[in-house]
Amino acid sequence: MKKDHGKEPARKPEGRKSSGLKPQDLEFFKKLLLDLRQRLMQKVDNLAEEAFTPDAGGVSASPSHLGDVGFDYYSQEVSLELLQNEREALWEIEEALSRINQGTYGQCEQCGEPIAKERLELLPYTRYCINCARQMESES
Ligand SMILES: [Zn+2]
Repeated sequence: MKKDHGKEPARKPEGRKSSGLKPQDLEFFKKLLLDLRQRLMQKVDNLAEEAFTPDAGGVSASPSHLGDVGFDYYSQEVSLELLQNEREALWEIEEALSRINQGTYGQCEQCGEPIAKERLELLPYTRYCINCARQMESES
């Protein structure tokens, strides 16, 4: 009683390791990245303005005690640090976009395994799978 002749869902082993992402997935992530880049660029612009405009917060600049200077300096430092983070993210986005073009997107740079799609949806510019990312976090 073999009525299902060859109807079994094809489960051919894949010859080469790929990210497992379909072209439409790549298209999706590309859009996501471009969108993210757009938003980040705007944010960077705003942050840059804040960081480099004195009195941005409207805090009355009392003539300086040493303490006050420290505080002002600190808040500027924070904006600059944020700015730095955003710039790094932007750079990662650029890299991710070029990985899409090269066909290596969605592959962990550490272990070569495919990165889970759910992870990419949250962090489309990540280079590492969750395992490697965790490992690196615990090392640093
Ligand atoms: Zn990995």
